[in-house]
Amino acid sequence: MTGYRETQAIVLRSQDLRETDRRVSLLTPEGRALARVPGARKAKSRLAGMLQPASLAQVTLYERPGLQPVVTGASQIAAFRTLHDDLARMAAAQVLLEICDIQSGEEEALRPFAMLAQALRLLDEAEEPAAAWLQGELGLLLAYGWGLELSCCVGCGGELAAPVKYQVELGGFTCGRCGHMGGVAASRAALEAMRAAAAGQDPGPGGAEARRLLHLTWQGHLEGPLKAVAFAESVMGL
Ligand SMILES: [Zn+2]
Repeated sequence: MTGYRETQAIVLRSQDLRETDRRVSLLTPEGRALARVPGARKAKSRLAGMLQPASLAQVTLYERPGLQPVVTGASQIAAFRTLHDDLARMAAAQVLLEICDIQSGEEEALRPFAMLAQALRLLDEAEEPAAAWLQGELGLLLAYGWGLELSCCVGCGGELAAPVKYQVELGGFTCGRCGHMGGVAASRAALEAMRAAAAGQDPGPGGAEARRLLHLTWQGHLEGPLKAVAFAESVMGL
């Protein structure tokens, strides 16, 4: 099918190509798309300004069978200015972008798209970027169909009595009675941090541990570690 397509898009990644072009990885409600941005490396490129990573834009793609789509137009939907001006917020956003870049394919991606847009907005507006980061990752797990069970034991369905363990494969915690199932030793504070973050509240002292556990989960689903995590933690002083 040859023709123009208009869509909303979040820029996940941008890469220089030979000459003056750039290639962007876009998350759209219809799926992820790699597209070429002609002339994007020229100083005055208006398109390049609209297509920085972690930007939300309305883009026009020119599509031809067998060829990479070309971005022929873009207009900004949300600038996320605070996010882009703050190294810590941007570093956390990079982790979310990396997740979507690895995980999204060409199939429909309405839920991840909406969740990522919401997470970037939160990282732009939240007072505490570390809390927004945790909430964003929990939201993306849900959007990709891997939402964590935080209300009861994933072994027996009972209350989460201590000592709890985190179950990477099952996506949740087991209670003290289910100790025979193995799992990763976890504190009550980590569980409370995930519950708080999922409800949009401050994760409190268990935040760092909760993030470590979440990253084990992502590593399992994405079949490798997230490269952007270490940098985000170092610039946030975590
Ligand atoms: Zn149990």
